[in-house]
Amino acid sequence: MKITFCGAAGTVTGSCHLVETNGLRVLLDCGLFQGSREVDDRNRSPFPFDPAELDFVLLSHAHLDHAGLLPRLVHDGFTGHILCTPPTADIAKLMLADSAHLQVEEAAYRARKAKRRGEAGTPPLYDMDDVLRCVDRFRPVGGYDIPTDLEKGLSCVFHDAGHILGSACIELRTPNGRLLYSGDLGNRHKPIVRDPSAPPRVDVVLVESTYGDRVHRSIEDSVAELRSAIHEVIPGGGNVLIPSFALERAQEVLYEIFLLWARGDLPQCRIYLDSPLATSTTRVFARFPEYFDAEGQTVFSKRPNPFEFPLLHYAQTTDESRQINAQLGGNVIIAGSGMCNGGRILHHLRHNLWNDAAGVVFVGYQAAGTLGRRIVEGANDVHLFGEEIAVRAKVWTVNGFSSHADQPILMDWIGKAMPRDLFLVHGESKAQAVLQSKIQSELGIVPRIPAWREAVAV
Ligand SMILES: [Zn+2]
Repeated sequence: MKITFCGAAGTVTGSCHLVETNGLRVLLDCGLFQGSREVDDRNRSPFPFDPAELDFVLLSHAHLDHAGLLPRLVHDGFTGHILCTPPTADIAKLMLADSAHLQVEEAAYRARKAKRRGEAGTPPLYDMDDVLRCVDRFRPVGGYDIPTDLEKGLSCVFHDAGHILGSACIELRTPNGRLLYSGDLGNRHKPIVRDPSAPPRVDVVLVESTYGDRVHRSIEDSVAELRSAIHEVIPGGGNVLIPSFALERAQEVLYEIFLLWARGDLPQCRIYLDSPLATSTTRVFARFPEYFDAEGQTVFSKRPNPFEFPLLHYAQTTDESRQINAQLGGNVIIAGSGMCNGGRILHHLRHNLWNDAAGVVFVGYQAAGTLGRRIVEGANDVHLFGEEIAVRAKVWTVNGFSSHADQPILMDWIGKAMPRDLFLVHGESKAQAVLQSKIQSELGIVPRIPAWREAVAV
């Protein structure tokens, strides 16, 4: 069996691994590199294989750092099937369409700037036509734990990764042994999704290591912080802004706010989900209740429920979004982007950040260089739409909503799989080094940390 690590090797983004065995070429994920400018070059560099010669793509979940280069793969000649769970297929379609829209918009912006310099602009990485041809290749599998035959004696099984709705760890059964790819492994006790399922015993494992050096705070503490922020800001006449990713985090925040309301533990307020992508994703969630955990299935079996309750409003159009700011206070506004580097949250920040009665609650990771990170780090003022805005609102950073396994969960999972060959992927070098030595000392396995585009035989 030969494995080539085409992405998320020494980094957290760009997940993509090629497995060649028994005359079959199978790609595990095909994700976007995200972050700085140099990673954009990676997104544009030719694949280290011929897409036309691939037989299958197995997709772990719908996040763009795992699925976001699929349209380019199809554009560059891939004609096989993309296998994934049914929720992943539906969510990935939304995410890829949104990504194409942003790519085209950014390319147009770059072209205008380049033209003024007398240069040609860079074309978009892909457009909506590429996305449409790509989603045509999607073939949802029957569900979790059901083997699907590929060709030449290979089969695959999708196990519940507990990371986001429909996310999977992918087991590849081959005549040359069994390989397990974790995709992104989830946290425990999260709303809606189930806990990650126990892995099977296998020969080879590729495991993510994002938080290989960390132990998360509990979700209960985070919900308590979110509750106290709402209780402090709303009665004082302010608005609560919650910058949120459209997929999973927005639905989880709605879920927890709904439970507060159902317990009579929410002040009188209006809840806005102000993100068309989050709204579409929420509709997909509502179609797959059988993928929820037991508590989620009970909560969603009735009305009202977290996606339909009297305080909740979905702001679809930009006009509806603007109308929210016509009201003086009393709103809890969940809007994208999660790191405040674009999206509708920006105009809410402009209307609220200067106001000491307002509050901003961060429920997700804020990467270096983003507006969210600057606010979290205590900036006195920020630039928004060419204006300097003072930061007077109260700021909460709530860390326990993470959708990734922390070190104890990773150790437990790896200890159950007990592979002969173990590779750490999807992590920064510091987290990987800490996890590597812990695995070595406690489990007696020597994990390898592959480099970008390194190929190994196992
Ligand atoms: Zn993910």
